[in-house]
Amino acid sequence: MHTLVADHPLIAHKLTALRDIHTETPLFRSLTDELVTLLAYEATRDIRTERVSVHTPLAPAEGVKLARPIPLMVPVLRAGIGMLDGMSRLLPQADVGFVGLARDEETLVASTYATRLPGDLSGRDTFVLDPMLATGGTLETVFGMLASRGAGSLTAICLLAAPEGVARVEAAFGTDFPIPVKVVTAGLDERLNDKGYILPGLGDAGDRLFGTI
Ligand code: URA
Repeated sequence: MHTLVADHPLIAHKLTALRDIHTETPLFRSLTDELVTLLAYEATRDIRTERVSVHTPLAPAEGVKLARPIPLMVPVLRAGIGMLDGMSRLLPQADVGFVGLARDEETLVASTYATRLPGDLSGRDTFVLDPMLATGGTLETVFGMLASRGAGSLTAICLLAAPEGVARVEAAFGTDFPIPVKVVTAGLDERLNDKGYILPGLGDAGDRLFGTI
């Protein structure tokens, strides 16, 4: 598995504003949207393409287009929904699947309450959208669902990651894993607290995007 911490001054600037406790929901949403588009640019660097020829008004030109089958993006409910527009802006052709996982706040174990995914993902590039890679339990589960359906590659886009979560996903999808696995994040933070929140982090991403319910 490859972990990429996107190193760009604009990403760092937007991430800092996102972390700020004084950033209210409307700005938090638009910063998330912009950050995801920037991260998506890195996350799609190895996306499959095929060669095509087109005619410009002046001459033939060789180029590429996205290969079929088209990619699938999977926002993890609820917070991942806040990342969907930012990703779709860069990859409007992609299909969208959904997975819902809820974390038990005592045990920190995530359980699946909704799955809407194609049964066959053979050869498809897949992109999981989940803002916080904390314990890694959710991402391990979602990557497992996609891999068991035959996905051609697994990429997670996360606003922030904790070393504990990266280590867990790395252990599950290590060097011997038969397909490319990647995590792209705007920041790798210090650690988790005893409630499984990322430190310094940004708090509860779902609550900050959609309110406390
Ligand atoms: N989920 C969040 O929203 N925030 C964290 O810090 C960890 C998990």
